[in-house]
Amino acid sequence: MTVHLDQRQRAMLAEMGVRVWSPVQEPQVSQVPSVATATATPAPTVVMQAPARVAPAVHAPVTHPATPILVQRPEGIDQMDWPTLQHTVSQCQACSLCGTRHNTVFGVGAKAEPAQAPQVDWLIVGEAPGENEDLQGEPFVGQAGQLLDNILSAMGLSRQGEGQGAGVYITNVLKCRPPGNRNPKPEEVAQCLPYLERQVALLQPKIILAMGRFAVQALLRDSVPDVETIPLGKLRGQVHSYQGVPVVVTYHPAYVLRNLPEKAKVWADVCLAMATIK
Ligand code: URA
Repeated sequence: MTVHLDQRQRAMLAEMGVRVWSPVQEPQVSQVPSVATATATPAPTVVMQAPARVAPAVHAPVTHPATPILVQRPEGIDQMDWPTLQHTVSQCQACSLCGTRHNTVFGVGAKAEPAQAPQVDWLIVGEAPGENEDLQGEPFVGQAGQLLDNILSAMGLSRQGEGQGAGVYITNVLKCRPPGNRNPKPEEVAQCLPYLERQVALLQPKIILAMGRFAVQALLRDSVPDVETIPLGKLRGQVHSYQGVPVVVTYHPAYVLRNLPEKAKVWADVCLAMATIK
């Protein structure tokens, strides 16, 4: 039953314990009143309800604080210069990892001239930042990173670009940490790959060392059919190519830490890479 009530009738009903409920109607966009009509207050329509009935509560939609606002990846990544690319990555919200990261991890390596990419012979590509990398905003700073530093040192290189060898740059396929160090998801790799593509195009390294399954799959997926079905061990020992840059495949340092005898294979791969750019 719908009745119109004035203030006095409402007060009387309230005394009697009768609750009245005024339905609120969301105006349709096309029905939003003009400024002139909006000032005239129409008589409220109320619905009388039995005291026992409680109007349903209206809850705002629940959003998890970590739920990211996903924004489309910016256009024109393939035209960006190094500082613009770095800034774009730092702001990226193109996949859900932006909701859980502390820092994006763009990469580290030889110092660059202002507005230029670093000049390097070597590009080392890993999988994705882990916990330490996420907190520090730098790739390979945990245990696996120590092993990588030792390998670089044996090559006469260092992550800061010092040493006798020509410069090195270290980055990952994903620029944000997958929570709990889970594997990257295909959609995360797909969203992030244009950043690595542009890094390679700007760095123009003489060689890429792809460390681990995800780096190998990301870099060789256009040149090796069904690469995801091929064991990494079968892709070692050959020189592949990505954007015209030679690629050598090796095991990920974290895997080597769990399988120490494989260290010798990594060194053999590094030797192949060094021989390739001699
Ligand atoms: N593992 C990677 O692949 N990358 C890092 O930066 C750290 C660990």
